[in-house]
Amino acid sequence: MTTTRTVVRGGLVITAADEMHADVLIEGGRIAALAAHDSDAAAGWSADTVIDATNKYVIPGGVDGHTHMEMPFGGTTASDTFETGTRAAAWGGTTTIVDFAIQSVGGSLRSGLDSWHAKADAQCAIDYGFHMIVSDVTDNTLKEMDVLVEEGVTSFKMFMAYPGVFYSDDGKILRAMQRAAANGGLTMMHAENGIAIDVLVQQALAAGRTDPRYHGEVRHALLEAEATHRAIQLARVAGAPLYIVHVSAQQAVAELTAARDLGLNVFGETCPQYLFLSTDNLAEPGFEGAKYVCSTPLRPREHQAALWQGLRTNDLQVVSTDHCPFCFAGQKDMGVGDFSKIPNGMPGVENRMDLLHQGVVDGQISRRRWIEIACATPARMFGLYPRKGTIAPGADADVVIYDPHAEQVMSAETHHMNVDYSAYEGRRTTGRVETVLSRGVPVIDNRTYVGRAGHGQYTPRGICQYLI
Ligand SMILES: [Zn+2]
Repeated sequence: MTTTRTVVRGGLVITAADEMHADVLIEGGRIAALAAHDSDAAAGWSADTVIDATNKYVIPGGVDGHTHMEMPFGGTTASDTFETGTRAAAWGGTTTIVDFAIQSVGGSLRSGLDSWHAKADAQCAIDYGFHMIVSDVTDNTLKEMDVLVEEGVTSFKMFMAYPGVFYSDDGKILRAMQRAAANGGLTMMHAENGIAIDVLVQQALAAGRTDPRYHGEVRHALLEAEATHRAIQLARVAGAPLYIVHVSAQQAVAELTAARDLGLNVFGETCPQYLFLSTDNLAEPGFEGAKYVCSTPLRPREHQAALWQGLRTNDLQVVSTDHCPFCFAGQKDMGVGDFSKIPNGMPGVENRMDLLHQGVVDGQISRRRWIEIACATPARMFGLYPRKGTIAPGADADVVIYDPHAEQVMSAETHHMNVDYSAYEGRRTTGRVETVLSRGVPVIDNRTYVGRAGHGQYTPRGICQYLI
């Protein structure tokens, strides 16, 4: 099973903190030591396996803090299972996901968490943890939050959108935030004014505006910014830290910037689709735009610059995928003639590390910032550091050998996600995953999948390690 000793030789080790030409010794599934390449120390290491990383990057495995494997939504279910989705994640250089268990309305957090454990157990190729979606704040739910934090489910997502499904009103949100302030939990917020959006949805449909592009128009940027602002104020009143998921509007970034300028524990995540895609995609002819329907929606191109800027200034700290794939045929087409019936979500768990590396190639971010927003900070944010997110003695040997020069063309023909389209079909990128280790065990070996369902372990998390 686990190779006792592995040495990765000759690569450029990149962490959020450093870049160094170092060899890496792996023992018993953990990083045992780093030493300068060709140093006496490194030369003295014997190993069962030697991986040649000459001219390659040696980076920590990616930590994707926002995925939805086999999530039920709008009468269908996200098409990647924990098995297929985590395999695809590994192909893309991600070695940990944090997925969302869901409390159903009227149900307990416990039963929701149990059913997500049952879906993931013995299925995953890489390690995984859970956030908890709170959709029904009751006295009992609040008590259960304390228990979950103790068990390693230390973050709670609430929705200001989706009335009648996941939606919580401001009073419920405040109560849950107060509880999180006391028990150390991190509140994650889907910040869109869903009550107002639903009015605009009905008006659009009544006027015959049914195409996918109207999904983007009714989910107005100002209604994301307004909800972001409101969530921040509620968190301040509660004295609770706050993490806004999938920020897409530049006006929402401005709200985060203002909050952070006040020194608040307010954080923001964006996703590759908002950095690389736009309302131009939602407006593609025919029903093609449905491929890009997700919430928050894609924005006009000019928002992309504000998101990259937020990533550079640390007003946005994390890039996750919100991976929630639905096939074009048989799932997305539920919304032909009515954009509100298109299942919300896009595939991307396999593409995140490469697209962000493309951001490095394009000069948007530095290499160390790439690792910070994709590996180290998500690990810190969600209580997994330094076991995950870095290459340092004692850390899990979740290591990716990355070829920064290889070119690839993203396509549904060649990707490993269980979905019949790619949101990035035909896109050329520079950089590609070559080999992936999870706790020292090869999952991808020179572009061949050698992992197995069940290697990935459930990983309980500590509380947020990123607070100011
Ligand atoms: Zn999501």
